[in-house]
Amino acid sequence: MSEAFYSGKAKTLYRATEPGYLVMDFRDDVTAFNGEKHATLQCKGELNCAINTLVMEYLESQGIATHFVRQLDAHSTLVKAARVLPVECIFRNRVAGSFMKKYGLGLGDELAHPVYEYCVKSDALGDPLIAPGAITALGMLTPEQLEWTGQETARINRVLGELFADCDYQLVDGKLEFGLLEESGELALVDEFTPDSCRLWSAQGERFDKDLFREDLGDLVGGYREVHRRLCSALRQPVEP
Ligand code: 5GP
Repeated sequence: MSEAFYSGKAKTLYRATEPGYLVMDFRDDVTAFNGEKHATLQCKGELNCAINTLVMEYLESQGIATHFVRQLDAHSTLVKAARVLPVECIFRNRVAGSFMKKYGLGLGDELAHPVYEYCVKSDALGDPLIAPGAITALGMLTPEQLEWTGQETARINRVLGELFADCDYQLVDGKLEFGLLEESGELALVDEFTPDSCRLWSAQGERFDKDLFREDLGDLVGGYREVHRRLCSALRQPVEP
């Protein structure tokens, strides 16, 4: 394996042998509260890699452009190199997390319609919320990129909401990142989509996402294994690993 190109909190990127491609390695690390809480949980990397493959392949099958190419081994995937846009796109279908705290709401409260938010990708600043007008005023996105990321976030929320409903989960909220693919210059979904980056609840409000770790609610690996099992069943794929 070549030298690490970028190491994040739970994934490492390496340059692939072929120019324009990267290897995304899912590690067993899990962090919360901007890295303040950390653990290493056996099998977590493999489960997230497998879940991410199922989700990215499904999105591609629904006509959504992603950087995903293929899974390489149990914990790594080949992706197209991209220049990642400097904002995170959040969608919310039910009240939870920072939205609940900020507005003093109840966990799981219903929303009249989905809420879409942008945050600045900056650990140093704690990923602060940013108004769409500020994004274009500061030159973070062009007006066209702002419009495109907004529409694509809403489309992915709809498509994944249906997929997870087939798994008997409510997709409560989630975070997406987009980038400009190096080779084609096209915009595409990048990074990962796993229970590390979204909230998944059963109809009874049982958690199957990183809140299990953030809030010490139970066995994270067991929860992720169940997400993987249900996705395989909904997508009619054999359950591996
Ligand atoms: P909240 O703003 O409530 O903390 O997060 C909203 C949703 O976006 C949750 O599903 C959360 O997991 C995801 N999210 C927000 N920021 C990040 C981040 O920096 N990394 C990851 N992996 N997920 C995030």
